[in-house]
Amino acid sequence: MQDAKIQQVAALLNQAQHIAVLTGAGISKESGIPTFRDALMGYWANYDPTQLATPEGFRSDPTLVWRWYADRRALLETAQPNPGHYALAELAQRKWVTIITQNIDGLHQAAGSAGVLEVHGTLRGYKCIDCESPYEMAEIPAADSTPPLCDCGGLIRPAVIWFNELLPEAVMAQAIRACETCDVMLSIGTSGLVWPAAGLPLTAKEHGATLIEINPETTMLTSEVDIYLQGRSGELLPRVVATMGTGE
Ligand code: NAD
Repeated sequence: MQDAKIQQVAALLNQAQHIAVLTGAGISKESGIPTFRDALMGYWANYDPTQLATPEGFRSDPTLVWRWYADRRALLETAQPNPGHYALAELAQRKWVTIITQNIDGLHQAAGSAGVLEVHGTLRGYKCIDCESPYEMAEIPAADSTPPLCDCGGLIRPAVIWFNELLPEAVMAQAIRACETCDVMLSIGTSGLVWPAAGLPLTAKEHGATLIEINPETTMLTSEVDIYLQGRSGELLPRVVATMGTGE
């Protein structure tokens, strides 16, 4: 059953002119980076996302939020792309692929993917909360327990998009355009709960694309997709790309 679906997906990708891919935290789980739900465990179990990932939360307790992101950054500094990230980079060697990611970890780029649309920003950069001056990760010491200050006096924060914030307009416009023009869309490792990114696969479907989901668990999107491949992306994506190669 799974083999037949993999062959079907490989054939669709082989025929496609333009493939759009939406990834979420699940694709990086096999790189040792927890999903949001998994990360809110242990020490962080008593906190909720509105304290840790909103501008209001940061302004009310900058030290707490800084510590949360220092933990996330420590994971990034040693994390490596996994076979799922590499399989997508390989797919882009053969086809026109637009990767749209909700992830802030930079692992698609580390695997060799170019032109990645980061709709939720990046944890590999920082900016001033007031004047928005950008800072490189190397300029910002990870070990400090409180956020440094910008020259303007504002607090420096991670360059991620928090809840209650607008997504980067130009990046989102490119993502929507990719969904409107692709003929196959893959939704990988995302729960489909965070909007507006969750609407992108539906945009692709409305414009006639075949929708494929890869996730070990069913999600809000599963009932809408044409093909649901149940399992880990680090295992399934390399199988799909290998099957494309043999034309089986
Ligand atoms: P989510 O945490 O809501 O959902 C993760 C999804 O991944 C789940 O549906 C889960 O079943 C699936 N999953 C788990 N293991 C998987 C695997 N091995 N292969 C494929 N799928 C797997 O993530 P979300 O939908 O991305 O939304 C949460 C928000 O938090 C997003 O903005 C997200 O980018 C951000 N976030 C990012 C990172 C990161 O950059 N790596 C980590 C945590 C959270």
